[in-house]
Amino acid sequence: MKIKTRFSPSPTGYLHIGSLRTALYNYLFAKKHNGVFLLRIEDTDKARTVDGAADALLDVLQQVGLNVDEGPYVQSERIDIYKTYVDKLLEQKNAYHCFCTKERLIKLRENQTLAKMPTKYDRKCCDLTNDEVNKKISENEGFVVRMKVPEGETSFKDDIRGVITISNSEIDDQVILKSDGFPTYHLAVVIDDHLMEVTHVIRGEEWISSVPKHVILYSWFGFDVPNFAHLPLILNEDKTKLSKRQGDVAVEDFLKDGYLPDALINFIALLGFNPKGDQEIYSMEELVKYFELTKINKGGAVFNREKLDWMNGKYISELSGADLSQLVESFLDENIDTKLLEKICEVEKGRLTRLDQITSKITTYTTRIDYLHSILVWKKSNREDSAMQLDNALTYIEGLSEKVFTDLDLIEDAIKGYINSNDLNNGNVLWPLRVSLSSAEKSSSPFELLWILGKNESIERINIAISKLKNGS
Ligand code: GLU
Repeated sequence: MKIKTRFSPSPTGYLHIGSLRTALYNYLFAKKHNGVFLLRIEDTDKARTVDGAADALLDVLQQVGLNVDEGPYVQSERIDIYKTYVDKLLEQKNAYHCFCTKERLIKLRENQTLAKMPTKYDRKCCDLTNDEVNKKISENEGFVVRMKVPEGETSFKDDIRGVITISNSEIDDQVILKSDGFPTYHLAVVIDDHLMEVTHVIRGEEWISSVPKHVILYSWFGFDVPNFAHLPLILNEDKTKLSKRQGDVAVEDFLKDGYLPDALINFIALLGFNPKGDQEIYSMEELVKYFELTKINKGGAVFNREKLDWMNGKYISELSGADLSQLVESFLDENIDTKLLEKICEVEKGRLTRLDQITSKITTYTTRIDYLHSILVWKKSNREDSAMQLDNALTYIEGLSEKVFTDLDLIEDAIKGYINSNDLNNGNVLWPLRVSLSSAEKSSSPFELLWILGKNESIERINIAISKLKNGS
């Protein structure tokens, strides 16, 4: 049988990090078994559905490389299908119409809570005759349809948690058809997973308590029960459930903040799954290769932002300057010459943990910033010596061919050769040279600066530094 998994989000806003992990694990499992990964939009809760959210979801999935093989199916377009199944259950007497008002249900719940009883529907409408039901419907009384949960117990196997058995007395007579004619999640999910031939249901742990209801529905319809795997929670550092209050949870925000899709996928894959030993960096192909449901942890997985930053930095550092320059472009508020930006990216890529950080690195290369002459003087040197060192270095640099400036290694070799052959001290030469080029105490190396700024701009900046030292400004 062909393996089929599904990602079935409700379009209620943004894509939560936890949902992305669900999507990813479904994708990995399907790919690992040469199966099919399908997408289904679960939008039967009209009050929670947000316009445009489904499209945004698709967009994010595509950006992170989780391409779907089938779908998207949209539940709100399948209402008629669900209705026929509701009719079937009504006919089989597995379900019944319920005309209780919201007010009555609220009161019932309050009384049960006060009496410390489980809060469940009390089956007031369960034994209405067909005539009574038809009469109420003809009088336009609003109704829902509820499952008539049988006595006994229900068991199912979860691939991560093993066999789970619960007494049916704990299961409420779940509404399956709402008063607006829309099915609830519970009915739609069972019918769709069956009709769409889903073999493996992989989703967040919060859905595990719904499975017994689903298993009862499967048996009433005579459907095979799929395999289940419920994923552990994702936690904040303080072990509480990952929440918006403690930081970003929307995948869209991470992408907007300059996290690379590949890094995000790599990081999220490891939330609750340890492919092999100490390895941390995995391509999608490797994740597919190593993915096993049995390797998923039962305990919650802590979302460690520092680790994500580290991983993102690692992915950024492995890009070419040209590729990185294209990715950072949307973060810049000024137009920068393409070649210049590529060089800046080449030099700075090892020092970024997020793409947006490029903005703080760029000014050094594009603008001559004013500074105090004192920062030009290395701690083991003095003003006069610094001025002299810069004067001499400038003469040397002026004599270098343009070709040297086209290659970082050639520049480094040239400057180091100059220092060695004149028996100079590295710090005495390189410190003032670097500060004169960068206008900052901390910056990239003088070689990198010379390469990025080019011969003319470098000479101008060194001249400014020399006059600062000479004039004490
Ligand atoms: N529609 C549910 C959600 O938004 C998914 C439930 C399921 O995977 O069965 O999380």
